[in-house]
Amino acid sequence: MLNFLGIGGAFNPEYGNNSAYIKRDKGLIIIDCGSTVFGDIKPKIDAADSNDIHIFITHTHTDHVGSLGTTLDYVYYVKKGKANLYFPDPKIIDMLIMMKISTNHYIFNSELTNEVCGLTVSFYETKHLLDNCYGLIIKDNHQTICYSSDCSEITLLQDFLQGKINTLYLDVSSNESKVHVPYKSLLTLVPNPADRSRLYVMHLDKYFDKKQAIKDGFNVAERECDAL
Ligand SMILES: [Zn+2]
Ligand SMILES: [Zn+2]
Repeated sequence: MLNFLGIGGAFNPEYGNNSAYIKRDKGLIIIDCGSTVFGDIKPKIDAADSNDIHIFITHTHTDHVGSLGTTLDYVYYVKKGKANLYFPDPKIIDMLIMMKISTNHYIFNSELTNEVCGLTVSFYETKHLLDNCYGLIIKDNHQTICYSSDCSEITLLQDFLQGKINTLYLDVSSNESKVHVPYKSLLTLVPNPADRSRLYVMHLDKYFDKKQAIKDGFNVAERECDAL
């Protein structure tokens, strides 16, 4: 369901900032809008209905919001529409005001669950480096996926192992990180090959060994521009 614009950690711009999008007819859902995202998402915005663009922000680290202001203003000034912005804490509006993005340029929504482009998209709280960090659960009639964004532990691990979540996209770290899930611990937490085949690692630092992860039975999220 997800197409990845970037799969990199904050300090790994070679992979692009971690971000994904979903295209549904003329509607466009964007998950996070880090510093590298605008350049990659611009053609998708150009192809979308200017009033059917939905941006979900998981937290306000710059690798997740760095080009949010530019993206909102692009939809407003160039596409002559208003993007819908989703984040559970209205304080994000203050951040955007500091960036000189007028509140008239987008439509803000702080609900935890939203019906968007035929999908149900819900925020859930995660443990990361600061308050107000969220992952997303995205459901359609056939499947439920989870996008962890950034987290130090897998909040919905049991739901995943019990099959209530069909596919998990999880941030991992090659080292003993306190803000992302250390890959070493994932090997213990998800021992079953059938479960590993439903899990995609993402938000990768430059030392992360993708080939080893595949050998271990996991998937590695693939950046769209690398797949072409
Ligand atoms: Zn991040
Ligand atoms: Zn973060």
